Amino acid sequence: MTKSPFKISGLHSDSLLAHGGGGFDAATGAVVPPIPVATTFVRDEAYELVSSSHLYSRDDNDLFRKTEGLIAQLEGGAESRLFASGMAAVAAVARCVKPGGTLLVQSGIYWGTTLFLRKLCARTNIALIEADATDPSAFSDELSVTKPDLVWLEVPSNPFLDVADIQEIAKLCQGAGALLAVDATAATPLVLKPLALGADLVMHSATKALNGHSDVLGGVVTTKDPDSEAWAFLTEERKLGGAVMGSFEAWLLLRGLRTLSLRVERMNTNTQKLAEHLKGHAAIAEVLYPGLESHSQHTLAKSMMTGGFGSLMSIRIKGGRKVAMRTVGALDLFQRATSLGGVESLVEHRQTIEGDASGIPDDLLRLSIGIEHISDLIADLDQALGGL
Ligand SMILES: *Cc1c(COP(=O)(O)O)cnc(C)c1O
Repeated sequence: MTKSPFKISGLHSDSLLAHGGGGFDAATGAVVPPIPVATTFVRDEAYELVSSSHLYSRDDNDLFRKTEGLIAQLEGGAESRLFASGMAAVAAVARCVKPGGTLLVQSGIYWGTTLFLRKLCARTNIALIEADATDPSAFSDELSVTKPDLVWLEVPSNPFLDVADIQEIAKLCQGAGALLAVDATAATPLVLKPLALGADLVMHSATKALNGHSDVLGGVVTTKDPDSEAWAFLTEERKLGGAVMGSFEAWLLLRGLRTLSLRVERMNTNTQKLAEHLKGHAAIAEVLYPGLESHSQHTLAKSMMTGGFGSLMSIRIKGGRKVAMRTVGALDLFQRATSLGGVESLVEHRQTIEGDASGIPDDLLRLSIGIEHISDLIADLDQALGGL
C-alpha cells in the first residue's frame, strides 16, 4: 500500500483528495506543488546525480509520483503509473501480452479500445477473443477453452452500461493463470474498486471524471502487486515507449482530483434522479443505467459499487435515428460533444462518432451528467423530448 503522509491512519478518500494527497513542499510549505519543468538534472564532480530520483523527465517526475501515490491510495493499490492518455494506458497494458499469446476482451465496450486491440493483435500475432462478459457461463467457457494471458473488462461498459461480475471473473482468471485488467473509467475509484474484487490491474482514462474539467488528456494504471512481471513491463514500457503525461497536465489532474469526491457525489445523484425521471417517458424506449432496478445487472452493480452508479447513462429514443437526431439538436443546456465525466453535461449520438462497424444502435444517445442543478437538466431533456 502507498504510504500516506498523514499521521492519522485510515483517512477517508474525501480527505486525502481535498489535500491532493498531502505532504506538500517541505522546503517552502507551499500547499500547492510546483509544476516541474526541467527535463534533465545535473550530476556532481564525481558524476553522481545531485538527487538520485531525478535523472531525466521521461523516466519519472515529482508530480507524477505525488499524483500516482494519491490514486494508488484511492484504488487500494500498491502503485500507479500515469500515461499521456487513456489509450496510452490501454496500449501499455495490452502490450503485456507477448506475440503468440491470447487476449480475451469483453465485447460491446469503448470502441476505441476494441479497435486498438483488434489492430494490435492482428499485427502482433495475438489471438483476440471478444465475448459477452455479462453472460457468466459463456464467458467462463471462453476462458477455460482459450486460456488467455490477459482478460480485459470495462465496468460499467461504455456506452451500454453493462456490468460484469469482476469477483467471479477474477476467480476464473486466477484459476486459469490469466491477468485481469478492468477499465473502471465510467465508475471512478470512489464508486468501484476492482483490485479489492480480485483484479490485477485497474485502468482509468483520467481525461474523464478524475480530472473532471474537460481540459486534460491522461490515463492511469494501478496494480496490487508491484513485484509482478506485468508491472515491471508496464513501468519499462512507459519509460521506453515514452507515452508520458506532461507536467502541466499532471498539475491540472492533481488539482482536479482535489474536488473529485464532491463532483462524483453530485454527478451520481443527478444521474440517478435523471434516470428515474426518464424511465417510462413516452418518447424513450429504454434507459440504460445500472442504478435503475430495471437494469438486468442492478443487484450485481449494487453489490460492487458504493456511493452511486456513476454519471454515464444512455437512452434509446423511440423512432430511430431521425428522432434521436432531432432530440439531440433540441437540447440546450446539454452540450453536443463526445467525452464524459466533466462538470458540464454532454450528449452524444454515439454511432455518428464511432461509425456503423461499432454496432452502436442509431437510436442511442449517450448522456454524461455534470454538476448542474438537477431541475435544469430535467427541464432541458423534457423540452427536447416533448417537442417531438
Ligand atoms: C475515453 C475512454 C478511454 C480512452 O481514454 P482517452 O483519455 O480518450 O485516451 C478508454 N476507456 C473508456 C471507458 C473511456 O471512456
